[in-house]
Amino acid sequence: MTLGFGVVGTGAIGREHIDRITNKLSGGKIVAVTDVNQESAKQTVEHYKLDAVIYPDDKTLIADENVDVVLVTSWGPAHEATVVAAVEAGKYVFCEKPLATTAEGCIRIVEAEMKQGKKLVQVGFMRRYDSGYVQLKEAIDKGEIGQPLMIRAVHRNPEVGENYTTDMAVVDTLIHEIDALHWLVNDDYKSVQVVFPRKTKYSHDKLQDPQLFTIETNGGIVMNVEVFVNCKYGYDIQCEVIGEDGVAYLPEFPSVVTRKQGKLSSGILMDWKYRFMDAYDVEIQDFIDSIVKKGEPQGPNSWDGYIAAVTSDACVKAQNTGQKEAIKLLERPAFYSENSVMETV
Ligand code: NAP
Repeated sequence: MTLGFGVVGTGAIGREHIDRITNKLSGGKIVAVTDVNQESAKQTVEHYKLDAVIYPDDKTLIADENVDVVLVTSWGPAHEATVVAAVEAGKYVFCEKPLATTAEGCIRIVEAEMKQGKKLVQVGFMRRYDSGYVQLKEAIDKGEIGQPLMIRAVHRNPEVGENYTTDMAVVDTLIHEIDALHWLVNDDYKSVQVVFPRKTKYSHDKLQDPQLFTIETNGGIVMNVEVFVNCKYGYDIQCEVIGEDGVAYLPEFPSVVTRKQGKLSSGILMDWKYRFMDAYDVEIQDFIDSIVKKGEPQGPNSWDGYIAAVTSDACVKAQNTGQKEAIKLLERPAFYSENSVMETV
């Protein structure tokens, strides 16, 4: 069985997903595309030599009976309307983050999905498919370090543009840790506080950089997450989970070690895209395979999208108040109780 994908948004990540579905993965085919910029949609179809219909908008694309899956890669504020329409039409959805830009928007998606009586939506939190994170989670789940007590995590980028503002450190950057960390320890968030250290000279007026987030879970785990987006030296993701019986580390991204001219050295990536390239492939392949084999996706679901939205709102509030802010989630519906347990990765 081959799933027909309809792509809404043919920008950077939309094209990357089109490329992997068309040229690397199995079980999926791009049958339709749309973009508010119709020229971009046309160029994409030509560039990837797709046998796909170009639609004027998401509604007409969703109505195409050959579209089994709607791949939402438009800009964030447009996601909710497309996802709700696709779910109401009974289509599967792979939505890049954010699921919606507000918690209320996520709940509207949750309600639409529950009405359909089965899970249709997966959110593009690809870290759960990174082999390092998978190994880290396995070590925690097997009890190798005992009960997790603390997490230290780091998210550093070499630099960002002038249009990157303080809140984007949450909604564009920390958002990946927000999803990955609660999944790693099977716990929900309770509160967050933000501290701003001395600002780097490489930042600008509208960006406080670096930032330190202290996030507490209901189970009492304290997570310290550093976001530093003008660190200059490279793209660096670190995660260390400190438990009662030991410490587990996210493996370093593999890189050849050289001994030369009195130095022992290895490279550090400069571009975030390469760090999780394999994870994107595994993520979309798993999405396809679980729909084909089990009739529903098994990755991060709409409830995870909701958790991310509520938590990022609280983080932005904490940036502004300097106080500890509560992260108040609604009670998880039984519909989402199995919460993205992945068997095949
Ligand atoms: P992008 O290059 O700006 O592409 C977005 C495309 O969608 C643009 O062509 C845009 O057209 C189009 N668009 C906007 N509103 C639309 C609508 N209502 N219907 C159809 N097309 C619409 O952005 P991107 O970097 O690909 O990011 C897209 C989404 O993926 C964002 O939500 C981003 O956060 C997410 N993302 C996730 C990851 C990840 O690591 N998981 C990585 C990158 C991006 P115009 O340019 O004409 O507005």
